[in-house]
Amino acid sequence: MIIVLKPESAESDIKMIEQKVIDFGYEPRILCGEKRTVIAAIGDETRNKSLETLEALPVVEQVLPIQKRYKLVSREFHRANSVVRVGSADVGAGNFMTIAGPCSVESREQLRKATEDVVAAGVSVIRGGAYKPRTSPYDFQGLGEEGLQLLQEMKEEFGVAVVTEVVGVPHVETVAAVADVLQIGARNCQNYHLLENVAGAGRPVLLKRGMSVRVSEWLSAAEYLVINGCENVILCERGIRTFEDSTRNTLDVSAVVVAKRETHLPVIIDPSHAAGYVDLVVPLAKAGIAAGADGMIIETHPNPPEALSDSTQQIPSREFKDVMDQLRPLIDFCAAGNTNG
Ligand code: PEP
Ligand code: MN
Repeated sequence: MIIVLKPESAESDIKMIEQKVIDFGYEPRILCGEKRTVIAAIGDETRNKSLETLEALPVVEQVLPIQKRYKLVSREFHRANSVVRVGSADVGAGNFMTIAGPCSVESREQLRKATEDVVAAGVSVIRGGAYKPRTSPYDFQGLGEEGLQLLQEMKEEFGVAVVTEVVGVPHVETVAAVADVLQIGARNCQNYHLLENVAGAGRPVLLKRGMSVRVSEWLSAAEYLVINGCENVILCERGIRTFEDSTRNTLDVSAVVVAKRETHLPVIIDPSHAAGYVDLVVPLAKAGIAAGADGMIIETHPNPPEALSDSTQQIPSREFKDVMDQLRPLIDFCAAGNTNG
């Protein structure tokens, strides 16, 4: 870290800061300029306490961290792209994964038809929320354990893998008993207590980016998972809040590129939640694939107008095969450029 002192600091102040740097476990190097003194604190910022607290001292103007606050997920730590296995499919390092299915698990009939159509499109990983984080308490909250049971039935009948959301610590174990991948939704991206608990469940985690979360904060959230024992993390860009209101969110395509530059973890896109409207989903999927995404998660429903959540953005599941046929050439073309770090 670099500690910049206020202009013309007294010798005693410089000595005091130097001692604090030593007390925090760093080695100080003092650089005296004509007006200003800068102290470089040498040491591992992820192991030692942060010196940012020194900024509260009147003599200190600024404390600048040099190291990133995420280490295990960074490309500096692990150069090659990581691969996460989900059921019989891989994501990362040139392996493109498609996940599709309804926003919410609503009934056996609905989930079965959606799964049948997803499988017919050549996709082996389904999604479907049993526990739903809804903005309004009056909206459908999900079928809970009954929904999990239905997802289990799909695994048995179709041999698919399942991605489903965990909304709270009390559900981690029951969801992990069925899910092949635990989804952390946008609203829980920075729920660190939940991340710590989910990390120990022994399943890969799909970490959605929060709607107002910076890439660096998203990667720090992923670091919580890895440091707590979950190495198989898949990042998911699902759109962020901007001033634009003609789309539900704004798909941050550049975040895919930045995240992939910064981390070895696979990064996928969710064009459904970014778009909010079904006609935008395929064009946004194309944009994400072209930007280098390692996969996508798309909402499909047998009868979207009757969906209990996110009805405007779900692709009618019988059309999903055509969507995949349309996207596959682009996926194959782009995946070839994704193999190395
Ligand atoms: C979902 O996947 O249905 C969902 C609630 O997504 P997000 O957390 O991205 O809003
Ligand atoms: Mn949804």
